[in-house]
Amino acid sequence: MEDSYRHKGLRRGLVNTLIEKGIKSKMVLDAIGKVPRHFFFDNAFVEHAYQDKAFPIGEDQTISQPYTVAFQTQLTGAGSGSKVLEIGTGSGYQCCILLELGAEVYTIEYNKVLYERTRKFLPSMGYKAYFFQGDGSKGMPNFAPFDAILVTAGAPTIPTALVEQLKPGGRLVIPVGDDKSQKMIRITKKEGNKLVKETFDNFSFVPLLGEHGWGKK
Ligand code: SAM
Repeated sequence: MEDSYRHKGLRRGLVNTLIEKGIKSKMVLDAIGKVPRHFFFDNAFVEHAYQDKAFPIGEDQTISQPYTVAFQTQLTGAGSGSKVLEIGTGSGYQCCILLELGAEVYTIEYNKVLYERTRKFLPSMGYKAYFFQGDGSKGMPNFAPFDAILVTAGAPTIPTALVEQLKPGGRLVIPVGDDKSQKMIRITKKEGNKLVKETFDNFSFVPLLGEHGWGKK
């Protein structure tokens, strides 16, 4: 698939939509402007790629809405050299946005089919991350601590294991709520391991499965 002038124009339109909706981070907007989101869609659905909406990617999962990706990425404060854990690789789109910021990305996906697909697809576009398959609700203690942990599925509560895996100054961004709606939460680990919790808008995510999520599927 090619990244034509038309696609680049549609992407600029998407960036403008995100600015209108309140996304302020220039780094994040630049990243959205670079990643060819239409590469993540089957040919038949390419016209949906630059609309600000989530879209099915198979396996009962979705590629997140661009506004949600931008909002969560902005909250992580990630930038060049940040070590980031993404929980819920899915299509890999969010992972590409983090890579465009210059972050080192560890990404874990529960679903084996999506894991296999995405760990091959992203490198084919030149995006290199560390891909894992398993239950990300437990985090990745072997690779901790992280500057940021970004959860892209809705959790019933904030898993303590994830908070423990933050560096001092690190941030956990996680949607928490029931199966219909979740509040976006940011936990920042301050000096002396003091935790600061901030609550943002409502979102609607697919459920976080696993031990510290909603359990096995
Ligand atoms: N970040 C993705 C993207 O950019 O396309 C969106 C991901 S989708 C909204 C949420 C993903 O979280 C799904 O692929 C789902 O299989 C995955 N997931 C759910 N529970 C998980 C868990 N415990 N560990 C890892 N991944 C999980």
